[in-house]
Amino acid sequence: MNNGFAFLDSFTMKNLMTYGVAFGIAFIAALWIGLILWVLRDIRSRTRDPFMIILSVFFVIVLFLPGIFVYLFIRPRKTFEQKYQDAIEEEALLREIGISEKCPSCGHSIKNDWILCPYCHTKIKKKCVNCGKSLELPWNLCPYCGEQQQKPFIDEKSS
Ligand SMILES: [Zn+2]
Ligand SMILES: [Zn+2]
Repeated sequence: MNNGFAFLDSFTMKNLMTYGVAFGIAFIAALWIGLILWVLRDIRSRTRDPFMIILSVFFVIVLFLPGIFVYLFIRPRKTFEQKYQDAIEEEALLREIGISEKCPSCGHSIKNDWILCPYCHTKIKKKCVNCGKSLELPWNLCPYCGEQQQKPFIDEKSS
């Protein structure tokens, strides 16, 4: 009797152990796959460099959890979305200080009220004949004072 119980006991224990180990392995495998998928998605939102993508996934596959720390250390700091946001902010900042345009001829940054490009001397805008504000070349009506622009371009008001 005693022997029987002991056998049953050890059998149950063995079964539980097996289930426990199987569960543990399944859990770790799921975590491992989850981490690999997460890194794959994360790295692809940061770079399109295939070498970097392979390297990052490789680290996690081989090193598992420590690989995540290595990955967090070597990954590009910003995602494409963050870079895009930065670009928008930079553009807004440039517009605020008046440098929002590029010369159509040479590509230098120019202030939006300049009438000439100082780098290549291309005519960019014209001055209103009445108030002197800079207008786009095709405009024949000043949006600031409403003055009709008779001539296509007037260099200076003669004083
Ligand atoms: Zn220019
Ligand atoms: Zn005007």
